[in-house]
Amino acid sequence: MSILVVGSVAFDRIITPFGTADRCLGGSATYFAVAASFFAPVNLVAVVGDDFTDEDAAIFKGRNINLDGLQKVKGARTFFWAGEYGFDLNVAKTRETQLNVFADFKPRLNDVQRASEVVFLANIDPDLQMDVLHQCKKPRMVALDTMNYWISAKKDALTRAFQNVDLIVINEAEVRQFTQEANLVKGCRQILTLGAKTLVIKRGEYGVLMFTRDAVFAVPAYPLENVFDPTGAGDTFAGGFLGYLASCRQADDRELRRAIIFGSVLASFTVEKFSLDRLREITLADVQERYRAFRALTHFEDYS
Ligand code: AMP
Repeated sequence: MSILVVGSVAFDRIITPFGTADRCLGGSATYFAVAASFFAPVNLVAVVGDDFTDEDAAIFKGRNINLDGLQKVKGARTFFWAGEYGFDLNVAKTRETQLNVFADFKPRLNDVQRASEVVFLANIDPDLQMDVLHQCKKPRMVALDTMNYWISAKKDALTRAFQNVDLIVINEAEVRQFTQEANLVKGCRQILTLGAKTLVIKRGEYGVLMFTRDAVFAVPAYPLENVFDPTGAGDTFAGGFLGYLASCRQADDRELRRAIIFGSVLASFTVEKFSLDRLREITLADVQERYRAFRALTHFEDYS
């Protein structure tokens, strides 16, 4: 099945206790598309300015990513985000956001994009997310991500979006902020009553929780000695997760659990270097090898 992703392609400035990277490639759609393309064809819909060079676009080349939807606006600059992390790499502080080309982003999908079976509405204005979804023909699975800004600025629109998707991928703090509920399990149950069948909670270095109406699945993050830059971990997770599901015949509980591991594996590579530098160099064999290591990490026997 093919995947549609709508989101940001960006230049980031990243400040971590281990160093700073300026004008490095980022954006939710960038991380998502590269991760998902390990498993399934991706239609990318995003906008960049004319400061986005062929060298920048090279990240998408040689992968299963269709760039017909990557619009380039003349005389304008690419979306820019500056983020800073302290030693607690789970918390990103936004230092600067320049919307640039993103301010007037109104995606119009072509027939190929509209026919995608799996849709990922990355973190953008929830009204825009719904506008994109309404252009899609009959997707088999629709997932969305969001951020704290939209929860405070556009809660009603975001609630409508939550009501119209199958799967929500958000982080722990966002569940609490949206529901005003301190207990994560209660908060998740509350969000599920809005309509989505599956809720995936990203918990940074503590891993991922998946809630469906009748099951909970929890995995740790892959333990790494060198975590360099957590930027994009969430979008990479979503890419690995949905990419794997798009390659499956059906998204039953067994495949959903495998997808959670593939998402976690891809995200564990992203954080090992700045920007997409580590994702750029890995192969599917590396992904499969770490999947097996993950299995060993979490395996234990029943007792009698
Ligand atoms: P993540 O770390 O997975 O939450 O996503 C990080 C990426 O999201 C960065 O590469 C940023 O360029 C991008 N980003 C940050 N803020 C926004 C925003 N307001 N809208 C769209 N993308 C954003």
